[in-house]
Amino acid sequence: PILANQIAAGEVVERPASVVKELIENSLDAGADRIEVELEKGGCKLIRIRDNGGGIPKDELVLALQRHATSKVSTLDDLEAIISLGFRGEALASISSVARLTLTSRTAEQAEAWQASAEGRDMAVSLRPAAHPVGTTVDVVDLFFNTPARRRFLRSEKTEFGHIDELLRRLALSRADVSLLLRHNGKLVRQYRAVRGSGLTDLQQRVLAVCGKEFLSQALHLHSEHHGLTLSGWILPPPAVTDSTPEVQYFYVNGRMMRDRLIAHAIRQGYLEALGVECSPSFLLFLQLDPHQVDVNVHPAKHEVRFHESRLVHDFVVSVVRGALDEGMP
Ligand code: ADP
Ligand code: MG
Repeated sequence: PILANQIAAGEVVERPASVVKELIENSLDAGADRIEVELEKGGCKLIRIRDNGGGIPKDELVLALQRHATSKVSTLDDLEAIISLGFRGEALASISSVARLTLTSRTAEQAEAWQASAEGRDMAVSLRPAAHPVGTTVDVVDLFFNTPARRRFLRSEKTEFGHIDELLRRLALSRADVSLLLRHNGKLVRQYRAVRGSGLTDLQQRVLAVCGKEFLSQALHLHSEHHGLTLSGWILPPPAVTDSTPEVQYFYVNGRMMRDRLIAHAIRQGYLEALGVECSPSFLLFLQLDPHQVDVNVHPAKHEVRFHESRLVHDFVVSVVRGALDEGMP
């Protein structure tokens, strides 16, 4: 099934950052609260993700590298209300069809760790004993080594690293409870320490680490609930947006970062109604709603959503953004 896996990889694996995304989602699904990302050459040479999650039992290691071996979807209701982040059961198989992938893992029940990798033309999976604490390490070496056409689409080391750095920022903002480390070419480049509580000041520590002092000190905080919708977070009132403010445009729906047209429009509309002029908004917003009110699987990259009551969501976002700006500005 290597060809089928390579075709599937076209959907999932576009560049090093997409590998990192899938692997970190797996770590989060496994309950990890400490995740280390190690890269060489922007991830093109090496991506290593180490987590302290529950690990993969020895007898499931081989299976985990095979397609549709998801342990996560058992009933239709699971599909409809996806709480777990990953659910397609093909990320590992896809990645291992376009790179050299090694999976090393130990569960709390096992005395020793095991390592699996797919090798050779037939991608036969071999299993051997290894040394590893409870948790999982995935090594992805030489991405696209066997698919030259894809390898040509890789950009410079700096660009590929930038995509991964940005991905980590997004994740860091949605999971302040998880410690995230990023190493590049042997150097520690980011360290987002886990914050202890779930209150506003706890979240603020993480926002500070990711978005910077300038954003946090000037942004207006908002929190609003209406008809089962909760919107909270920060927006920056213009003209506070300066050259040194990194671009902050993050919108999360039930903890997932989204780039949605409807939402983008609603935020711009809120600014327009409050200020009377178009401007480029800066925001970090979290929308919570009943998972049954939203389809997240519209696009395989999972950036787009479909709200069942899109009008309601749109108008709610407009009014909360406008209200916060009206209130927060002289
Ligand atoms: P999916 O996440 O959609 O189930 P994947 O191909 O990403 O599919 O992973 C296959 C399976 O391997 C998962 O269902 C899970 O059981 C296991 N797995 C992968 N990564 C990890 C990890 N870091 N910790 C624990 N289990 C993992
Ligand atoms: Mg997955």
